[in-house]
Amino acid sequence: MDDKSPCNDIDFKNSQRQYSHIQELVNNLPYIVMMFLGAAIFIISFESLVWAYLGAITYLVYAVGGTLWIMVFICPCCAYWNTRFCPCGYGTIAAKFRKKEAGNRFNEKFRKHIWVIVPLWFIPVLSGVPVVIRSFSWPMLLLLIAFILNAFVILPLLSVKHGCKGCPQRNSCPWMGPETNRQADQPS
Ligand code: SF4
Repeated sequence: MDDKSPCNDIDFKNSQRQYSHIQELVNNLPYIVMMFLGAAIFIISFESLVWAYLGAITYLVYAVGGTLWIMVFICPCCAYWNTRFCPCGYGTIAAKFRKKEAGNRFNEKFRKHIWVIVPLWFIPVLSGVPVVIRSFSWPMLLLLIAFILNAFVILPLLSVKHGCKGCPQRNSCPWMGPETNRQADQPS
């Protein structure tokens, strides 16, 4: 495990905590919950069982593929690659797929590849809302509310306030937003 990333030249010892496997699992829970809530929305979106399960399985495969995409195309540029400082554990898995990328291209790669997974946040909503409008159903409405709360409130809040809070490369990370918005989070 590297204490200092070769491409980002960041001193982790003074700035970071390491995560156990249990903590990594906990940090992945909102994404896992999003996957299964999204799949459940597909299952009750279609009357045909074939289309229902096809939609749900496709969504699950897309969600797992999306995490692999992040590991292959973003993590090798991250200061947390192959360290236990990565809050979700992708960094150590990513090291099994690809070597560390030379140069400091995290920001550029993040902006380029994060769009691959963004539809995961919207496809279940686009599938479920027309069903609620056409033929109101409480299970669908409750699933949609749970999905939206988890995907758009809990998941980003956990990332920004917990996982990314102490990240040494947060100033170059597009996920964290403009630097002016982050001042309040800086340790005094
Ligand atoms: S912090 Fe994000 S980009 Fe960095 S290694 Fe972990 S998952 Fe990948």
